[in-house]
Amino acid sequence: MPTPAYDETNIFAKILRGEVPCLKVYEDDVALAFMDIMPQADGHVLVLPKSPARNILDADPQMLGQLIARVQNIARAVKEALAADGITILQYNEPAGGQTVFHLHFHIVPRWTGVVLRPHTGAAERPEVLEAFRRKIVAALKPL
Ligand code: 5GP
Repeated sequence: MPTPAYDETNIFAKILRGEVPCLKVYEDDVALAFMDIMPQADGHVLVLPKSPARNILDADPQMLGQLIARVQNIARAVKEALAADGITILQYNEPAGGQTVFHLHFHIVPRWTGVVLRPHTGAAERPEVLEAFRRKIVAALKPL
């Protein structure tokens, strides 16, 4: 089955166009990063390219290289800001692969020894809680 075409009505495309708000962690000409509203752990951040790609299967490899550098930089800030023991990077492709929003994105999920991940697309977190984590992460971000 070929990868379906990019659908510009997806929620992340609306966030990228400024039609839907987000709690922004980072932005440059390549990527936007913001807090996941249904975090699998405290401080869960999503990083997505500004250019349209449904998922990793149709993404431009050159863009992926630029994007993963942003993922690395933000993951370092998340680990430091949240005093995490580790970081899990997640990236889902197509419904059978667990993808629910069809604009490519990487999940940065901080981990602490003995703390189990909450469910994928589980409960929504309160905005004030997300905002507190966002501030800490932004403060820990270093230039690329
Ligand atoms: P996927 O399953 O596509 O890899 O993950 C989509 C992620 O986006 C989920 O972790 C979900 O919690 C998150 N999410 C879904 N809708 C929104 C939204 O409107 N705003 C934000 N910030 N995150 C969202």
